[in-house]
Amino acid sequence: MASVIERLHQQLVSKEISCEALVQQKLDALNASEYNGSNIVLDQYALDLAKKVDTKIANGETIGLLEGIPFGVKDVYLLQGTYSSASSDFLKQYNSPYTATAIQKLLDAGAIPVAKENCDSFGHGSSTENTVFGPTKNALDINKVAGGSSGGSAVNVAKDFTAFSIGGDTGGSIRQPAGYNAIYGLKPTYGKISRFGLMAYASSTDCVGPIAKELDDIRIVLNTMAGKDVKDQTTFASDAISDQATSSVLPKGTKIGYYKNFIETEALDPKMKQQFKDMLAKLEAEGMEIVPLDFFDADILVATYYALAMAETASNLARLDGTNYGVREEGENLKEGYSITRSENFTAETQRRIVGGNQVLSQGHSEEIYNKAQALRAQISHHFDEDFKEVAIVLSPVTPSPVPNIGDIMDDPMKMYLSDAYTVGFSLGGLPTLTAPLALETGLQITAAKRNEEILFTSANFLKQVL
Ligand code: GLN
Repeated sequence: MASVIERLHQQLVSKEISCEALVQQKLDALNASEYNGSNIVLDQYALDLAKKVDTKIANGETIGLLEGIPFGVKDVYLLQGTYSSASSDFLKQYNSPYTATAIQKLLDAGAIPVAKENCDSFGHGSSTENTVFGPTKNALDINKVAGGSSGGSAVNVAKDFTAFSIGGDTGGSIRQPAGYNAIYGLKPTYGKISRFGLMAYASSTDCVGPIAKELDDIRIVLNTMAGKDVKDQTTFASDAISDQATSSVLPKGTKIGYYKNFIETEALDPKMKQQFKDMLAKLEAEGMEIVPLDFFDADILVATYYALAMAETASNLARLDGTNYGVREEGENLKEGYSITRSENFTAETQRRIVGGNQVLSQGHSEEIYNKAQALRAQISHHFDEDFKEVAIVLSPVTPSPVPNIGDIMDDPMKMYLSDAYTVGFSLGGLPTLTAPLALETGLQITAAKRNEEILFTSANFLKQVL
């Protein structure tokens, strides 16, 4: 089993390294980092936990696999004892009143959070440039963007500053930065992991998920976080992904689908198009059955996603008015206070989405836009249901273009939104989808039917062997 977690666990158990030394190494690397992937490094917090693990080891007690393993947390999760800023001025000094369920499960397993990680503010973005902490830089090329919105989490993993990190994915925010930094990132089936304590962006597609260098680490962390939670009524109970999933291969004749219009389009970078086609040819040579599928055009997916995501974020962020959370600016009267607070403390991109979302929901427009988007979403979901009766998995690029340079897309919101063309559809369908650092320069997206994460792991293992 190739696993960073397993390797570190062995080092701790064999006393090759103390937990305190391990955590200190990570903290030093995070503090010295030029990549700007962390909003806060949790020095004392992490060291206190590490000492407890060392005491257990010294007393001869057995420790669990995740015990003492340093991990990163996207700064949109509540973690009691830390600020949860959502990379915004609004919540820069907002103390987490409790801990998110998914993070609590990792804490209960003994894993140690070492950083709250930089991201696009409230998850609004595709590059980790829409952040009041300054852009995160790509792990492979410091002039390029980290991807987003979970950019800090992806870069910290890619640079080995954390053993794994927990990102959040509403429309691609785990998969795309994982692809940009050549590591794994999983968006599970909607509802597999509790969203309780994750700041809501678009509640109907928000997903918690792991980012890691090895497939087995994705599996271990997913199994730890998954499960029904009474605090999130959309969650469901699920079986753990088996160890075999990451060592098995796809049988010959497996039907592998791809969406023709994702590939046969001018919008896809020519080099990436070629890489995708070469991959299909290799898979065919391995005895797989390649099935070209029809689908909605990517711009319809993007339009549907953004109409709904903006509507939901406008609604979710209405709670931030200076009364209950974060900063408060005084005005002549209460209403003016709200408006000054909201104008001064959301970034321009977040304001654009709030204004757009309120437009989508407003009387006279909601029938035309919101209801239409909901109807389209139902059609998209239905399409997926039919597709996965025919094929076992669908392969697609993660993005249509290579990684942009820092500064390239921030001034052009349309360009930013269109860069999500291949990730947002699967979010609307609530499907499990995994980015693997394979085949294309921004990674390969492997998608399966709802609740069939198992095959994603087997497929990724197989593809890694044959590509
Ligand atoms: N880039 C997409 C957006 O800005 C997805 C973000 C996300 O998944 N949080 O909405």
